[in-house]
Amino acid sequence: MRDEQNNWDNIIEDTEEYRDQIATVDHEGKRIWIYPKKPQGRYYNARTWVSLVFMAIFLIMPFIKENGEQFLLLNILERKFVLFGLLFTPQDFHLFVLATLTFIVFIILFTVVYGRLFCGWVCPQTVFLEMYFRKIEYWIEGDANAQRRLDNGPWTAEKIRKKALKHIIFFAIAVVVANYFLAYIIGMDSVLQIIREPMSEHFGGFVAMLVFSGVFYLVFSRLREQVCTTICPYGRLQDVLLVKESIVVAYDYVRGEPRGKLRKQNTGTKDPVTEIQSAVGQAPASTTGTTGETPLGDCIDCKLCIAVCPTGIDIRNGTQLECVNCTACMDACDAVMDKVGRPRDLIRYDSMTGIKSGRRKIFTPRVLAYTGVLIALVVVDAILIANRGIVETIILRSPGQTYQQKDETHLTNLYTYTIINKSTEEIPVQLHLVSPEGKIQMVGQEPGMLEKGTKKQGAFFVELEKDELAGRKTPVVIEVLSDGKKIDEVETNFLGPGKRQHQH
Ligand code: SF4
Ligand code: SF4
Repeated sequence: MRDEQNNWDNIIEDTEEYRDQIATVDHEGKRIWIYPKKPQGRYYNARTWVSLVFMAIFLIMPFIKENGEQFLLLNILERKFVLFGLLFTPQDFHLFVLATLTFIVFIILFTVVYGRLFCGWVCPQTVFLEMYFRKIEYWIEGDANAQRRLDNGPWTAEKIRKKALKHIIFFAIAVVVANYFLAYIIGMDSVLQIIREPMSEHFGGFVAMLVFSGVFYLVFSRLREQVCTTICPYGRLQDVLLVKESIVVAYDYVRGEPRGKLRKQNTGTKDPVTEIQSAVGQAPASTTGTTGETPLGDCIDCKLCIAVCPTGIDIRNGTQLECVNCTACMDACDAVMDKVGRPRDLIRYDSMTGIKSGRRKIFTPRVLAYTGVLIALVVVDAILIANRGIVETIILRSPGQTYQQKDETHLTNLYTYTIINKSTEEIPVQLHLVSPEGKIQMVGQEPGMLEKGTKKQGAFFVELEKDELAGRKTPVVIEVLSDGKKIDEVETNFLGPGKRQHQH
């Protein structure tokens, strides 16, 4: 009977650990607002530096220009893309498909190897929320407990002042972010034009700015971690991407369990356990409920790792969908371990396999192999993009036409051409017949100067001697020259009368 009771207790305990809803939603489906305690520690400091670099790049990039083009522009409205100074037009669609495929493979491999490293360190959502908006909130409203008190308290003048100040600053930052966001789409010049000129002349642009500002404000002031846990497709994919060898923020259950509160020591000095527990607003630890029969692990169950988590989870329950690998729990637990005199890294970057086997090996052969594949893919893409021609040439034989007899010995074919200048500067272009021997006779003008990002269309005859023909269809190679230098080459066919007619 006693055994049955114990089993039942275990079942209840297990069930309590199991969640069938995200940590920020209660059983009634209502949002649980998270008040994460301000993180402190080496990872948080490192992330602060990374966020400063990120912010500098984000703010400076739209002002960098090469040959008059913004260094990075993703103008989906006009289907014009400039990536690191290289202009891509709709004609480069194949490169985009390839780049997209590489990107997808890259994401899969990167996640399989490094887990959600991207989310924690460079995702704009995490960087803006944790490193800027949240820091402003700590500065104005204080740490987690003070924020909780303020929210639960009555609307005093102090509360109104703090809330108003916070939301004004939040909205101002949202406006700046929205303007920059637009600058990456329509270009900084256009954004500045919208700002400088009367609103009536750019009503559409002004509305877009307002909508983007409103969206960013809502995301960072209200939606927050919900973006990562319920909206972001990358976050939702973690379930299928992570494997046991993926490097994630992980709790070392082998070392930490069975967890248990530390026994208070009567040394007369300041007690670290009480200090930690008062930091998270817990009742002091029991002086007895510690070891029992089983020796305890290193986790003192102070719950500081939960208190700092911006998604409200307990990482000791294992890898969870909500974990954005922000490292706050790693810093928090390191501080606790320092205080109680135990080694750091009870929560650390590691794989499930690494934790189970007790061997912390991040760069396993598999990781190295995947990293190699990643590098190879990126290099192939870079080579393809670097060797991309500066013009795109389309030469087609005029539809519905065969060959024309010019004289006794010569035949001609009529062709149409389209040359697109994909470079970021104006270039002269000229067509030249390479093989077989013959000549090109332009209909009207030569293509001449071609402005950046524009195309020229026209027609020309290719004139060949009958003796040069290889049959009904003779391969023809035409070069596109710029200042005498070959910049493109096109192969097409020259239509002739065919061998028998020719001989006749
Ligand atoms: S912070 Fe560390 S010691 Fe405290 S509960 Fe979390 S894992 Fe255990
Ligand atoms: S579990 Fe740790 S790493 Fe994951 S979101 Fe929470 S604090 Fe960040």
